Amino acid sequence: MVMLGPPGAGKGTQAERLAEDNGLLKISTGDILREAVQSGAELGQLAKAIMDKGELVSDEIMIGLVRDRLARTDAKPGVVLDGFPRTVAQAVALDEILEDRDDLFVIDLVVAEEELVRRLSARRVCGQCGATYPSAGLDGSCERCGGKLVQRSDDCESVVRERLKVYARDTQPLLHHYSGRLNFASIDGAQSPEAVGCEVKSIIESKATEVSLEGTAQESPQ
Ligand code: AMP
Repeated sequence: MVMLGPPGAGKGTQAERLAEDNGLLKISTGDILREAVQSGAELGQLAKAIMDKGELVSDEIMIGLVRDRLARTDAKPGVVLDGFPRTVAQAVALDEILEDRDDLFVIDLVVAEEELVRRLSARRVCGQCGATYPSAGLDGSCERCGGKLVQRSDDCESVVRERLKVYARDTQPLLHHYSGRLNFASIDGAQSPEAVGCEVKSIIESKATEVSLEGTAQESPQ
């Protein structure tokens, strides 16, 4: 499954729910890059300046990273991708990588720009475990591990505006890549996370039924 949508649309939250509810692995390319930055890995050194400006890491690096990650055993039961693909080249590469895997579900979360800026400016993440919170809360500490909540370096307003520009330029064209497919759906991401989660779940269930009915129709003799 792929969660599409601009920064702040709720991809990470919904990807985590979907993964948990369906026994799938969540792969967030942003998380992988942030971990690489923290550990000082070569990938992180390369990605940090690009991420801090709100730009995109090269397709070559990202496609290689996702191809390797999807080849690992824990990805075999299925994955929810959060933050990948982000360009048409990445989507084309993903189609190639998944050629012999189950059908891809693509969910696009739609949220207006001013709401995205509001959400991202208020958002805080745990400096220790990376959990995300819509705001800093009362005592500014993580409910999961007690770590201090901080603002992501790319969530300040100037970088957020740049990320939204990059999204419109490089990622929005992906909607054309996927929109004609049977298992593509756009959802109103301005609703509460619970309401979005319910809609995602019911869309996936109904699409899965449509896809399997279509498969049965194609298999059955005329
Ligand atoms: P995210 O956590 O998904 O908002 O990603 C944070 C940053 O990581 C983005 O602004 C990009 O700089 C980089 N990034 C994450 N995923 C990708 C991707 N698929 N292609 C290029 N850059 C990415």
